[in-house]
Amino acid sequence: MATRIDGKLISAQIREEIKAETAEFQKENGFLPGLAVIIVGENPASQVYVRNKKKACEEVGFYSRVYELPESTAQAELNALVDELNNDEAIHGILVQLPLPKHLDETEVLLRINPEKDVDAFHPYNVGKIMIGDYSFLPCTPAGVMALLERTGVEIAGKKCVVIGRSNIVGKPMAMLLLHANGTVTICHSRTKNLAETTREADILVVAIGKADFVTADMVKPGAVVIDVGMNRREDGKLTGDVDFASVEPIASAITPVPGGVGPMTITMLLKNTLTAARNKAGKS
Ligand code: NAP
Repeated sequence: MATRIDGKLISAQIREEIKAETAEFQKENGFLPGLAVIIVGENPASQVYVRNKKKACEEVGFYSRVYELPESTAQAELNALVDELNNDEAIHGILVQLPLPKHLDETEVLLRINPEKDVDAFHPYNVGKIMIGDYSFLPCTPAGVMALLERTGVEIAGKKCVVIGRSNIVGKPMAMLLLHANGTVTICHSRTKNLAETTREADILVVAIGKADFVTADMVKPGAVVIDVGMNRREDGKLTGDVDFASVEPIASAITPVPGGVGPMTITMLLKNTLTAARNKAGKS
């Protein structure tokens, strides 16, 4: 039976470390790391994410601000707010909660964020840095997966790693981080032929598809480490992953549950990036 990788516990440990580092940072520099979160409209899921981000900032002692803009916000108004925050000395990280309402251009907004304050690591400048292995900010969800692997003592170097999913926010950067950690990486997607044949070769299998219970035991090599990034809502409202936990847990060596695996790590990595941004700023001023 697999070891369950406890994302809640690991996340809590890292947040304790960030809290201590933040207190130390303030003593040395006389200011707190500051995060600004912008939310436009009333998407209920986004509202929950933003509330959780604010709560997490309070927990570790950051300064934070939430800007709740109405659905009717014009592109020019949103751009102006980003410009203002780019020049705000108290703010080291800017996060625009996605998705934005349809009339707003996400790319335009993300490009406008100063890359030094881009704590989501979505700006092409930071994406490029990730590609060459020179990172200031790591994309939060893949960085969370790496932290789970490291803190569970999973060796990556030389291992066959398979990532299912090639999105810009999870799959692609995930593959890059595993590659930089010296894994031998294969990326699979919806056009991959004989998917199960490839996934069965994985020592480390990371699944980020967005389809409930998609990966079943016959797709997993016995003894593999299985990381489930998926977050899907069942009809009864319960959260479930992309991996069929019941069938895979008995044959994997370690596995993340959903909820309680990768999910709690994402905001923790956002906190880490914000502390890094504040440190970078302190180093410069
Ligand atoms: P996405 O942008 O929809 O990308 C899904 C990827 O899965 C695509 O690359 C797609 O391939 C691939 N895919 C879809 N069906 C497939 C199939 N049958 N076989 C193989 N590959 C298939 O999703 P995402 O943003 O990466 O998110 C993936 C999952 O992670 C979602 O459940 C999301 O909610 C979750 N998530 C969790 C967190 C967290 O904090 N835990 C953060 C972000 C996302 P193509 O490119 O060929 O279409």
